[in-house]
Amino acid sequence: MSDLPSNRSSSSVPQPIRRDGAGGPDLGPRNIARDLQNPDMLVPPVTDAGLIPNLKFSFSDTHMQLNHGGWSREITVRDLPVATTLAGVNMSLTPGGVRELHWHQQAEWSFMLLGRARITAVDQYGRNFIADVGPGDLWYFPPGIPHSIQGLEEGCEFLLVFDDGHFSDLNTLSISDWFAHTPREVLSANFGVPESAFRHIPAEQVYIYQDEIPGPLSSQQITSPYGQVPLSFKYSLLAQQPLETPGGSVRIVDSSNFPISKTVAAALVEIKPGGMRELHWHPNNDEWQYYLTGQGRMTVFAGNGAARTFNYRAGDVGYVPFAFGHYIQNTGTDSLWFLEMFKSDRFQDVSLNQWMALTPRELISSNLHVDSELIDKLRKQKWPVVKYPGYSYPPR
Ligand code: MN
Ligand code: MN
Repeated sequence: MSDLPSNRSSSSVPQPIRRDGAGGPDLGPRNIARDLQNPDMLVPPVTDAGLIPNLKFSFSDTHMQLNHGGWSREITVRDLPVATTLAGVNMSLTPGGVRELHWHQQAEWSFMLLGRARITAVDQYGRNFIADVGPGDLWYFPPGIPHSIQGLEEGCEFLLVFDDGHFSDLNTLSISDWFAHTPREVLSANFGVPESAFRHIPAEQVYIYQDEIPGPLSSQQITSPYGQVPLSFKYSLLAQQPLETPGGSVRIVDSSNFPISKTVAAALVEIKPGGMRELHWHPNNDEWQYYLTGQGRMTVFAGNGAARTFNYRAGDVGYVPFAFGHYIQNTGTDSLWFLEMFKSDRFQDVSLNQWMALTPRELISSNLHVDSELIDKLRKQKWPVVKYPGYSYPPR
């Protein structure tokens, strides 16, 4: 215990003390690295109050599933209990590494973070889909549709989002698992080949394995007699012209421009240094966030005097329960990039500023006792999703 007081003297060690003197030094056991990352949790704004559950979990605090061929880690209700609508998986595949042929009860929405992969799928009518995806591309596999993912020359890393917080990528329906748990004579009868054909099948689920890098897409295309899937499973989000605002940019993708994506809507948001995503809420569902670069803070307002502030940075997941008010402020010196996702067919939000601007000024004035200068300013404002003042994303 003799090293405890080492926290005491260094000026770089933050202390839970407000400017007005409230609080006091923390001289006991503490994780200073975490405190440095969470200044608004160590010293919360005085406006924070009440009981709001945890709305943050970092992929850095998850179990890493390491396989030859890649790795994965996930954030589900087991890690972040409030997040019941969506679950997220962060996965990397080596060059040639394969996420094996599988399917699941949940829809799969994905964002390619870096590198490239080849994805394959076949739908219930025998229509197939084989495509290569790169940075900023999305894919969406409807529930129950079998698929695979394989890293190309440079390998890849991506975020997967599933429309059920109870999902686990370690508990899907895998082709190797099914083979391993089907009587050999049934496999023989099903495929019309001798049982000996199955003497080398894997004994259990493979999940991720190392394979050779596949040849060019043209060499692997298969023409189905039933054609290709009518709605593409792929969408190039970064190719979309963003809505530019003084404080950043936003790209929105939902079933209006990516028709197959019927259960997941998303926005890719950039907030420049000094900027913030304005006070708003969503009238359709909870929000699941994934932070790509930079750092920021969010306060979530739950009504009845309850509000809680969290700090986020690249690799963290944030969550906002349905209709709760919030903002996201860039607290760093680089652009903050994040994805906001909803279990919904459409992206929807309600801007506090827009609501107030379109409400009789007498009501605003008598309700809030704000001076007319604020109301004048609201009337002149446009209402983009991001406001105020390093494009560092994508990485290549
Ligand atoms: Mn999958
Ligand atoms: Mn939001």
